[in-house]
Amino acid sequence: MKVLVVGAGPAGLYFSYLLRKSRPGCELRVVEQNPADATFGFGVVFSDRALEFLQADDAATYDLITPELEAWVDLVVVHRGERMVIDGIGFAAIGRLHFLRFMQQRAASVGVHPEFNTPVGDISGYDLVVAADGANSTVRRSADFGTRITHCTNKFAWYGTPRRFEKLTQTFLANEHGAFNVHHYPHGAAMSTFVVECDAATWERAGFAAMDEARTKAYLERVYAPVLQGAPLVSNKSIWRNFPNVRNERWHAGNVVLIGDALRTAHFSIGSGTRLAMEDAIALTKALFEYKNDIPAALSAFEAARRPIVDKLVAAADASGAWYDHFAGHMKLPPREFAWSYIQRSGRIDPERLRKTSPKFVDG
Ligand SMILES: Cc1cc2nc3c(=O)[nH]c(=O)nc-3n(C[C@H](O)[C@H](O)[C@H](O)COP(=O)(O)OP(=O)(O)OC[C@H]3O[C@@H](n4cnc5c(N)ncnc54)[C@H](O)[C@@H]3O)c2cc1C
Repeated sequence: MKVLVVGAGPAGLYFSYLLRKSRPGCELRVVEQNPADATFGFGVVFSDRALEFLQADDAATYDLITPELEAWVDLVVVHRGERMVIDGIGFAAIGRLHFLRFMQQRAASVGVHPEFNTPVGDISGYDLVVAADGANSTVRRSADFGTRITHCTNKFAWYGTPRRFEKLTQTFLANEHGAFNVHHYPHGAAMSTFVVECDAATWERAGFAAMDEARTKAYLERVYAPVLQGAPLVSNKSIWRNFPNVRNERWHAGNVVLIGDALRTAHFSIGSGTRLAMEDAIALTKALFEYKNDIPAALSAFEAARRPIVDKLVAAADASGAWYDHFAGHMKLPPREFAWSYIQRSGRIDPERLRKTSPKFVDG
């Protein structure tokens, strides 16, 4: 079997690693448009439950990555200066570049060496083409996948800061231009992720459209001064964006299959995009192993196994993204009610379940 994997992000790297292990005889080529050490953004966070899949399916990778992770319990919401702790929820985080290097090493350990600085070219002549080339997938344009892309109305930018936070915290603030939020958490010994966000009206009033990178950063450092406490923001292609919600009616067409963000994105507020990408890789490898050289059967089996799970998670991500798009309105609630609205936003946490996981918060 001759396989082309396009993209060496989490989806492409992990799929290549798993495929090489389960089908050592197949001919595998991985192309990545960027250099090996290039990435955007800072850290990514996983919930405890988000890592369970890895422990269950690939204990060796789980054991190797666990010491690399920053881990903590509890989630903090700050509104009107009041700090509310939602207890009992575990998280783990890692720098995205650190994670990609780890995945590159895993791939290299089984003899997979992506061709970096190599944008995808001709995709003919392969038995299988795996489009793991992210939300703006080029390969997706090669056939009709029934792609639909909508955008969240909020603006966000993905920064880092050398100020170390102890836990995943959502801090909501207001100034003369409107409402701001930041998702901040540690992803390394001396570095935290700092994803800033504001609604479209605030963004307009603040005049961000006319600000260059330095002025934007200076403005944000002022807004978030109570959180940063003198620490700077660090930029890494930290431009304002609207989060893209990518959906595809068809997951595969002919011998081309979509995985990871190329297949679907999940709003970053539920911290699941990387985990979904890796779960896609696991499911696709299993289907290819089961159906051997019958590619159409394997791709159908992959979709049948994954679609119900993905649909549920995507519904939760959409609900969470929609809550954030209206966070300025929610901020009219007093702090406790606001935190309650926040924790229920994805529609997946019912009060009974919350009572079990976060008894102190519910009692409070
Ligand atoms: C602000 C923000 C915060 C996030 N936080 C989290 C989080 O906390 N937890 C979490 O799990 N997820 C998070 N995510 C989502 C996560 O980053 C993605 O879901 C994940 O990276 C998807 O992996 P992927 O491999 O499918 O795509 P990508 O990571 O986008 O990788 C795609 C790769 O394909 C390459 N490529 C693209 N086009 C071509 C081409 N033409 N030829 C060759 N190569 C190409 C790219 O260079 C890239 O390396 C966040 C996303 C955002 C925007």
